[in-house]
Amino acid sequence: MSEQYSFYEQVNRGFDRAARMTSHDPRLLRQIRACNSVYHVSFPVKRDDGSMDMIHAWRAEHSHHKLPTKGGIRYSVHVNEDEVKALAALMTYKCAIVDVPFGGAKGGIKIDPRAYSVGELERITRRFTAELKSKNFIGPGVDVPAPDLGTGPREMAWIVDTYNSLSSGELNSVACVTGKPIPLGGIRGRTEATGMGVYFGIREACAIEDDMKALGLGPGVDGKRVVVQGLGNVGYHAAKYLVEAGAVLVGILEYEGAISDPSGLDLEALVEHRAKTGSILGFPGATDLHESKDGLELDCDVLVPAAIERQITRDNAPRVRAKIVAEAANGPTTFGADEVLRERGVMVLPDAFLNAGGVTVSYFEWVKNLSHLRFGRLQKRFEEMSNRRLLSAIEAQTEKRFDAEETEFFALGAGEADLVSSGLEETISLAYLQVREIKLQYGEEADLRTASFINAIDKIAGCYQGLGIFP
Ligand code: GLU
Repeated sequence: MSEQYSFYEQVNRGFDRAARMTSHDPRLLRQIRACNSVYHVSFPVKRDDGSMDMIHAWRAEHSHHKLPTKGGIRYSVHVNEDEVKALAALMTYKCAIVDVPFGGAKGGIKIDPRAYSVGELERITRRFTAELKSKNFIGPGVDVPAPDLGTGPREMAWIVDTYNSLSSGELNSVACVTGKPIPLGGIRGRTEATGMGVYFGIREACAIEDDMKALGLGPGVDGKRVVVQGLGNVGYHAAKYLVEAGAVLVGILEYEGAISDPSGLDLEALVEHRAKTGSILGFPGATDLHESKDGLELDCDVLVPAAIERQITRDNAPRVRAKIVAEAANGPTTFGADEVLRERGVMVLPDAFLNAGGVTVSYFEWVKNLSHLRFGRLQKRFEEMSNRRLLSAIEAQTEKRFDAEETEFFALGAGEADLVSSGLEETISLAYLQVREIKLQYGEEADLRTASFINAIDKIAGCYQGLGIFP
């Protein structure tokens, strides 16, 4: 049974469920929930063969309670106004939960990026950027896009270059977009950030022994059986860090089908196999499932949907065997499915904090761009020197002699990549503990998603209340 509500309505139903548990003024709640502005543009693009295509694109700015607004731009045939509004709303709540000082936005171009040449994609991206600029829907203090499904550093490079050419002399123009290649003002660690944040969130949840016991699981990531949907940037990195921490990858889902192997799949070998054959199917030692979505029902401890929205529905939720659903994608679980999973006692780690690693590191990139200074540049050498002195002092006072490896480990000052992953770990871990605390406060009724919404609502309400407009 397909569910009757649109994606945006589903997000709003989740919001309303949480909003009812708060004591905020209904008018204030309506203001928080509303999507502030949507820009829909269509423009022609000349294909390489001389023909013409009409392109449709959107940018939704859900909330201006903080500026700039922030969120990715996706290229997919499924893009539509409802989808960008839903995703923009999720960005608003996500940023509030992880204390990243942005309002929420999202953009999308309705194309299949694989059906266009690189040159065509460049023309489309540059034209869309120019359209956004002319309507004041992009800028370092206005609205800052980033990568999402079907886009990456290459598209961000075209965006920043187009923006620069239209805003010559603007001191902070490079901060108009994040997720850029490093030579163009990007930051180390942005590519793996979302997947790494997903790992930190799962690790934090698994570390609480009582919570795991309630699910019939032992503590820790080590030994947990994991299924991942989507081998894109987010799914791949989440799987990589989980496997490094001792998890066993028992299933992978992609467009072309799914595969399973209860004894564990070799992630790197699988990536190589897919690059060579064009498919995950036929991987030596694994069993093929021709219907990709059947993979969501594989026997495992943690299911990580890392592809697109609305994958776990009221329909298949009763058959999901995972004890933990870790939402690496945005909106992979419908409102109806959420009810089923809650009743069945499945722990859902919601998108709104679990996949916030991307926007968190985007925030670091934006701050780096505004400060015009690489993190660690000032203190790295100083830290290293003072650490070396400390080690020598310890050696002088004790019998201890540090070998070369130990000296290297203790002495090295923090560089940009170290600071980014430390900031990311702190952000996601703290967000989980805060959300869990709220869930405990609200009791049985509140699952982690509801608690996340309550957390976001309280923080955003604080901004409006400060204005004195609402009680
Ligand atoms: N597209 C990512 C998300 O959905 C990142 C957004 C950003 O970095 O602004 O969270």
